[in-house]
Amino acid sequence: MPTPHPQLKTVIVVDDSKIQNQHAAEVCQDCGLQVLGVAYDGLHALELLKSMPSLPDLMIVDLDMPVMDGISLIQKLAETNQYSALLILSAREIALLSSVKTMVKAYGLPVVDALQKPLNSDELNAALTRYRQRVIPKAPLVHQPKVVVTVADIVHAIVNKEFVAYFQPKIFLKNGMIKGVEALVRWQHPEKGMIYPDDFIPMAEEHGLIHDITLQMLEYTLHWLDYWASYGLTLTVAINLSAGALTDLSLVEQISSMVEKAGVSPKQITLEITETAVMADVALSLTTLARLRLKGFGLSIDDYGTGFSSMQQLSRIPFTELKIDRSFVDGASESLQLEHMVNIAIDTARTMGLSCVAEGVETPADWQLLKDLGCDIAQGYLAAKPMPGEALIPWIKSEGKRLRDL
Ligand code: C2E
Ligand code: CA
Ligand code: CA
Repeated sequence: MPTPHPQLKTVIVVDDSKIQNQHAAEVCQDCGLQVLGVAYDGLHALELLKSMPSLPDLMIVDLDMPVMDGISLIQKLAETNQYSALLILSAREIALLSSVKTMVKAYGLPVVDALQKPLNSDELNAALTRYRQRVIPKAPLVHQPKVVVTVADIVHAIVNKEFVAYFQPKIFLKNGMIKGVEALVRWQHPEKGMIYPDDFIPMAEEHGLIHDITLQMLEYTLHWLDYWASYGLTLTVAINLSAGALTDLSLVEQISSMVEKAGVSPKQITLEITETAVMADVALSLTTLARLRLKGFGLSIDDYGTGFSSMQQLSRIPFTELKIDRSFVDGASESLQLEHMVNIAIDTARTMGLSCVAEGVETPADWQLLKDLGCDIAQGYLAAKPMPGEALIPWIKSEGKRLRDL
């Protein structure tokens, strides 16, 4: 008998045909899986899941079924955060299987494969092995609940002003003084609690809602700049712009008129844009970015190192700052390879005359390394996690000395 797959031990099979069900269950057993149950359509499967103390590791799901078919079942599983790994099993054509597989991934559910009936143990074993090799190096299978939001929820949140700005300090490495903050959006959902940007920004971008969120973030940021100034603290603030913002010609005008009305100097505002976003449409991006720069805004290359742009491409855009992506910074003091990459990024910034920021600095050792390598600014949990605007001044009072001593 083949060795059972450690992270995929239990399974339920969902198929309206009793014979297919029994056959698939036998093949699963042959492959070392423990069959916890079988269901005859989607609704039956959901009832079965409800009656179980925990989710099965794997669900084998047929597509054509009466009452609730496989596709509706998958949608329901995603909506209700039931994250078993899925294996689609159907008699339908390969092209359909492959698009269902893509759909499952788009819902954020783990997918083992989409196979044609009848199931056989060689194919199942091969699919499980491929899945294990894909999943194991990162982390064992975890059923991590993901917050599911709809476009209507986002619209509602914009109208009801449920988004708030959190701020994470950017610190000068040479002396531990605060240079400014980055504004990061948070969604204070009345029932679901705090929702983080990765769970709604992509959907907001896709449905043309990010423009409104950006302007709300700017509005809150301008309010807090004024508040901090009333305590004698003049800071710079970074605002994140999505790729779509660069091709949105009205945005520049709206941003600069809001900043002007608030009596804030554009020099105090930096706009962060990922290199991938810029490269998506260089000509239009250049137009937008050049206009922002002309008006005096700072421009930062975000997540530097994760895209594929060359220095020559980047040098055409009037950036003022380069932010080295967290994936290079975190652990750089323990890996020569990471240290090398960070060093190249710092050199690039220096050659281009840009101020250099390291993101995601979590340890004193990484902090020290960046300082030694000549990086200008650090941002990360070692200094502070993002915080509400009112927490910033108390934070400076209580943590300022610790940072100056680093
Ligand atoms: P980003 O622009 O790269 O922002 C940095 C992210 O890294 C933030 O996550 C921040 O909380 C996190 N971070 C900072 N220091 C550390 C650290 O030391 N360790 C670790 N593990 N993480 C750290 P957050 O706030 O969840 O934001 C995620 C992404 O969402 C941002 O990545 C940005 O791309 C996007 N985003 C956030 N706010 C906005 C916004 O207002 N507009 C747009 N368009 N995108 C936004
Ligand atoms: Ca950013
Ligand atoms: Ca970043």
